[in-house]
Amino acid sequence: MTHAAKGKEDSKEAAQAAAKPKGKRGRVVISKDKCKGCKWCVEHCPKGVLETGAEFNAKAYHYPRVKAGMEDACIACGMCELICPDFAIYVVEEGGKNDA
Ligand code: SF4
Ligand code: SF4
Repeated sequence: MTHAAKGKEDSKEAAQAAAKPKGKRGRVVISKDKCKGCKWCVEHCPKGVLETGAEFNAKAYHYPRVKAGMEDACIACGMCELICPDFAIYVVEEGGKNDA
């Protein structure tokens, strides 16, 4: 690799590292067929990570999904998990004790 190419690669990595948010991170797991489409999780996520998807589940409800481009935005606050009346969503803390 040339110096120029190496420099370009380094700055790309630095930009990616800068774009990745710091602090606690989470990954949401959605049990789509338990969902009744109430949207509470969508409405109460403080980071706006979730949206209602276009697909239907087995009960003919639209279930939530993570918005495109928001995969790293979850702060593992647990609000979605706490507020869901049907235990249809939970959060796994990335790199934390719950991480499988
Ligand atoms: S854990 Fe918090 S930040 Fe992550 S999706 Fe649920 S409500 Fe949003
Ligand atoms: S709060 Fe639970 S039941 Fe309501 S939309 Fe979210 S996952 Fe579905």
